Amino acid sequence: MMAQLDTPNISGSPDRYGVVGHPVAHSLSPIIHGLFAVATGQSIQYDRYDVTPENFECEVEKFFESGGCGLNVTVPHKEYAARWADTLTPRAQHAEAVNTLVKLKDGRILGDNTDGAGLMTDLVRLGVEVGGRRVLILGAGGATRGILEPLQARSPSELVVANRTAERARALVGENGCGYEDLGLFLSRGHFDVVIHATALGLRGEVPQIDSRVISQSTFAYDLGYGKPDTPFIRWAQQQGASGVAQGLGMLVEQAAESFSIWRGVRPDTAVVHHKLAE
Ligand code: NAP
Repeated sequence: MMAQLDTPNISGSPDRYGVVGHPVAHSLSPIIHGLFAVATGQSIQYDRYDVTPENFECEVEKFFESGGCGLNVTVPHKEYAARWADTLTPRAQHAEAVNTLVKLKDGRILGDNTDGAGLMTDLVRLGVEVGGRRVLILGAGGATRGILEPLQARSPSELVVANRTAERARALVGENGCGYEDLGLFLSRGHFDVVIHATALGLRGEVPQIDSRVISQSTFAYDLGYGKPDTPFIRWAQQQGASGVAQGLGMLVEQAAESFSIWRGVRPDTAVVHHKLAE
């Protein structure tokens, strides 16, 4: 059985949604979607599902066969979900990673990727410019797959992906015309203007081992992970003198809003949710 970790109390006869990942107990998605539902007058139920990779297919099939309408997909399932879905949106096809599944009227499952749109909206909200600037991404997993193309579309002067498994970064950037590096051997060729942390290490309270010279006093450091009050990567970036930092709560809210509008056909106002989560 898929481990269902909670059931937010949203009134009415709700359509069922959720987030599937491993681990997933830390996910704030149920709270965010609950706030969206209240704000837009939608009746939904949104649960966390802790599913190991070997059980992903069987459990997700059961969810949809039992009437589930849509799922968010998180660590470590995004790339498998892209292979599993019946059909993909162009952005999910390009990323080869899926963070949103939706059951279509004809019964097929559509996979989409709202991570890139979520990050770009949040960077605009934070006033972080990418065009003409040197950008470094740490990590080459499902999240990086989703954000790479939208970042590239803003024409940074340089876009480098550094990953523990350098081959994975090489394969990824080969399709996108960016640079790649072995995370462990990476020696900075000067500082970067924007450094984005997209490894799963934060979930273990750790920071990638990386040359601290990638950060300078003009660097903006963005962690896709989030934590209270700060993530280990944010603390590390501040110690290296980064001028600005943000954790991924903002992206989480924005990618969720995009998923919510795909599922419900109504776009929630995210400002209220940013405000509530900041509290
Ligand atoms: P993923 O597909 O499982 O990829 C994990 C990445 O972390 C890979 O690059 C992996 O490197 C690296 N990694 C894992 N253990 C490592 C270690 N011990 N040392 C160095 N690198 C290590 O995960 P994902 O879906 O890309 O998610 C990555 C992070 O982004 C997670 O913390 C997730 O919560 C966060 N995220 C946040 C949002 C948001 O909205 N804020 C959205 C998406 C993701 P290898 O290739 O070498 O294994």
